[in-house]
Amino acid sequence: MKADVVIVGAGPAGIFTALELLKKGSRQKIVMVEKGQSIENRRCPKHQTNKCMNCKPYCHITTGFSGAGAFSDGKLSLSYEVGGDLPTLIGTDLAQETINYADKIYLDFGADTHIEGLEYPEDRKEIRKRAIQAGLKLVDCPIRHMGTEKAHDIYLGIERYLQENGVEILFGHECRNLILENDVCKGVTVSDRRQDFEISAKHTVVATGRRGADWLEKLCAEHNIAHAPGTVDIGVRVEVRNEVMEMVNRVLYESKLVGWPKPFKNKVRTFCQNPGGFVSQENYDNDLAVVNGHSYKEFKSDNTNLSILCSHNFSIPFNQPIAYAQKVGELTNMLANGQILVQRFGDILDGKRTWQKELAQSNIRPTLPDVVAGDITAAMPYRAMMNIINFIQAMDYVVPGFASYETLLYSPELKFYSNRVKMDTDFNTSLQGLHCLGDSSGWTRGLMMSSAMGVLMGRKLAEEG
Ligand SMILES: Cc1cc2nc3c(=O)[nH]c(=O)nc-3n(C[C@H](O)[C@H](O)[C@H](O)COP(=O)(O)OP(=O)(O)OC[C@H]3O[C@@H](n4cnc5c(N)ncnc54)[C@H](O)[C@@H]3O)c2cc1C
Repeated sequence: MKADVVIVGAGPAGIFTALELLKKGSRQKIVMVEKGQSIENRRCPKHQTNKCMNCKPYCHITTGFSGAGAFSDGKLSLSYEVGGDLPTLIGTDLAQETINYADKIYLDFGADTHIEGLEYPEDRKEIRKRAIQAGLKLVDCPIRHMGTEKAHDIYLGIERYLQENGVEILFGHECRNLILENDVCKGVTVSDRRQDFEISAKHTVVATGRRGADWLEKLCAEHNIAHAPGTVDIGVRVEVRNEVMEMVNRVLYESKLVGWPKPFKNKVRTFCQNPGGFVSQENYDNDLAVVNGHSYKEFKSDNTNLSILCSHNFSIPFNQPIAYAQKVGELTNMLANGQILVQRFGDILDGKRTWQKELAQSNIRPTLPDVVAGDITAAMPYRAMMNIINFIQAMDYVVPGFASYETLLYSPELKFYSNRVKMDTDFNTSLQGLHCLGDSSGWTRGLMMSSAMGVLMGRKLAEEG
């Protein structure tokens, strides 16, 4: 098979590359290779079964058209300060301009016009004052909230638009490797589970998301593609009653707080806050179960969840952050019989595990029904645990009640963005013809930033025609 541009991965980064090529009037033949299904065929059985069925060959939550975005909360962070390190590569002005541009595309496909986080200036000042007193930094970030169900419809509209405009999307096809000739990337080899075949292309764009990060790391090692180990984030998902979060939910929707707690002074931050949301489980291909969270636009729970993440870097002699985080995840899964583990904050401070029956003694009911009560401290590295405990205690000053006895901590929450592919500002890797985008490239970690990276890639490829 022949193409001008082959895009591996139909998440936001891949999708916006194709969209922008079309918007710029490019007549190049675009083929997208996606190992999951079209958006209309993505179904997580958990809605019926109430528990994760560990779907094979892949998890529908993270795999398929729109990538990890389709069932995600659909919160579009509209500030360059949130969503990854792309601005350090391309500059903050271009990053913000492109975010604004990509945001208009989401609006064209039906995203809500309302933006969270711009109202209540006096209340915002009060929150910032408390953050300063607690030694935390409050990052301003307006949010456009699509909501899980609406995000699905928006991406469905985009999928149809791409197909109607000639983009060929090969669903159920997995990219196995790159085709190299004299250090030039000439396309990819792909499997449809029955046979392998080649797609030759002038430009190969790899945008395989978090799930494809370790696969891309192996490709980098195999083909000598310049890359650097980056960070990996290890943390917990915290769940409290909506009443506790009432003020920050109303004023900010998402509170982006950053701290450097003693004694380690590592960067610790809040991420992905879901007012009235639900804690969810994702399963990676290697059976690793990790926790996440999302919220619907209309259907609300009594709880708010958010993650608290600590960044980890390694140097000598060990520099495999993904492998490290996986081990932490495996150990936690082992303690929960392959499920997600939960513990009350007060039990952690008291040095005891949480028992299933004790969960019923609290005001809060876990929104992840099949979660297993236990001891997350038995698997969490000391440094990460101390960072989390001290950060939660600082947060309590900004959000009184956050560090209550009954506050729930779910584990493992892991974010794999480690392998950072070295690229120039036009996203050229050290291998001619190969470009890496989105979360798997290590430069983004959110829907909007990966979409913006796709826009810039599409523009560049359209120019080169
Ligand atoms: C539950 C959940 C909630 C989230 N909520 C938010 C949110 O509210 N706001 C936000 O900004 N971010 C959120 N995120 C993160 C966001 O979804 C990602 O940052 C974003 O989707 C990254 O886009 P991407 O295009 O880089 O990769 P992805 O969206 O992960 O897409 C990559 C695609 O590549 C495919 N793929 C992987 N390997 C191969 C291969 N070898 N061959 C073919 N195809 C392959 C995958 O199937 C996938 O569809 C959430 C993530 C999850 C999991």
